Amino acid sequence: MREAGRITARALRLVGEAVAPGVTTAELDAIAEEFIRSAGAVPAFKGYHGFPGTICSSINDQVVHGIPGAVSLREGDIISVDVGAIVEGYFGDSARTFAVGAIDEGARSLMEATRLALEAGIAECVPGRRLYDISHAVQSVAEGAGFSVVREYVGHGIGRSMHEDPQLPNFGAAGQGPTLASGMVFAIEPMVNAGQAAVRSLDDGWTVVTEDGSVSAHFEHTVAVTDDGPLVLTLE
Ligand code: MG
Ligand code: MG
Repeated sequence: MREAGRITARALRLVGEAVAPGVTTAELDAIAEEFIRSAGAVPAFKGYHGFPGTICSSINDQVVHGIPGAVSLREGDIISVDVGAIVEGYFGDSARTFAVGAIDEGARSLMEATRLALEAGIAECVPGRRLYDISHAVQSVAEGAGFSVVREYVGHGIGRSMHEDPQLPNFGAAGQGPTLASGMVFAIEPMVNAGQAAVRSLDDGWTVVTEDGSVSAHFEHTVAVTDDGPLVLTLE
C-alpha cells in the first residue's frame, strides 16, 4: 500500500504541476494515466462502475466525481483532482484541490480549511481512538472555519479494494464508533462547501455539485493506523 500510495501521490503532484489556465481536464487525465502506467501500476478509477477517467476532475461548484473532458481551466477556478493507483492488488487513493492562477480569498480560505480538516482527521489515526474521532475532528475544523461538510459522500476503509468498510463520515460525535487498531487503513477525505452542505448529481450520472452553486474543496489521503501513530501512505 505504501508503493500504491507513493505512485498515487506522484500522479497527483504531476497533475497539479500541469494545472493552468487553458489546460483541459482531459489533458490532466492523460498525464495521470501515463504516469501511473509507466510506474507499473493500474489506474484505480478507470472503469470503476464504468467511470471513464483516471482522475476525477471537479471544478468550482463541482464537489467530486467530475468526468475529465474537453473543458478548459480558467484563471480563478479551483479544481479538485482525485486519483488512485493499484499496485499488486493494493490501492492508494488521494485528492487535492488546486488553484488555477489567482483565486479569490473565499476560495483560498475554503481550500486551506479543507486541508487543515484532513490534517486534523489524520492526527486521530492512533490505536485506541474511535472511528468517529476522525469524523469529529474533520467536522470541527471545517465548520469552525464557517464552511459545511458534505453528508452524502464519505471516506472509507481501503486495502485490497478501493472502498472497504467501514464508511468514514466527515461528521460525527467524538468517542463513538469502532476502536482504531494498528494496521487499519482509511481514506480520509473531507469534501467541504463554502455555502450549504446540500449536493446533487448532474445528468451525466457522476458529477456531484453543490445545490447552492457555492464552491467546494476536497482533500484526501490514505492513512494507516500504526503503533507509532498516523502513517500517511499517499506521500512521495
Ligand atoms: Mg479518492
Ligand atoms: Mg476515497
